[in-house]
Amino acid sequence: MLEKSEIKLNTDYLEKKEYYNSLADKVIYTGGIDEYFGFKLGKLEYRSLEFKMEILEEVDNYQGNAVINYTDSKTPYTRIIEHKHFEANDCKGTIITKEYPQAYTNNSIAYYPINDDKNNSLYEKYHALAEKEENVYFGGRLGLYKYYDMDKIMEQALSLAKKLEEE
Ligand SMILES: Cc1cc2nc3c(=O)[nH]c(=O)nc-3n(C[C@H](O)[C@H](O)[C@H](O)COP(=O)(O)OP(=O)(O)OC[C@H]3O[C@@H](n4cnc5c(N)ncnc54)[C@H](O)[C@@H]3O)c2cc1C
Repeated sequence: MLEKSEIKLNTDYLEKKEYYNSLADKVIYTGGIDEYFGFKLGKLEYRSLEFKMEILEEVDNYQGNAVINYTDSKTPYTRIIEHKHFEANDCKGTIITKEYPQAYTNNSIAYYPINDDKNNSLYEKYHALAEKEENVYFGGRLGLYKYYDMDKIMEQALSLAKKLEEE
């Protein structure tokens, strides 16, 4: 499906939506569904994060694992990533990143959808508008306003691609 596709980086589709739509028979949009409609029904809420990276030159192995989650209410961060454990790497020193929960504001990045009743009901209204869009298909965690792990989002993307190919 993506064979011979032209890829444009650092390009906001929403800035020239009509132009990009005119280039393709089918458009798959993976940005915020509320943003697509100019937030006209209101803004969906998200949980954001602040990432704080630490370079530990004197520590070779900080936690023995790529990821450790902290689910208690007293720890201010929710997980620590120790990057070197994602690959076999026994270099000296280590780099860790702590993830601190943040409120989602205009200046922060939308990470985790807040799937409570209020937001789900707003999403359903945007979804009804999305269903009426011709040749634009909403996908991914922002387009569907749902948290997906990597394996699940791959499954979702492949199933949408198959469906569109068969149409
Ligand atoms: C903080 C965080 C931690 C996570 N940790 C894990 C984990 O440990 N394990 C795991 O399995 N999964 C994890 N996930 C989930 C995983 O990252 C997602 O499942 C996956 O990235 C979702 O893919 P996607 O294509 O839906 O969205 P994204 O990866 O967000 O891709 C959407 C793309 O659309 C582009 N886009 C949006 N709007 C526009 C626009 N207007 N114009 C042009 N382009 C646009 C974006 O730039 C982006 O490239 C995590 C997610 C988050 C947010």
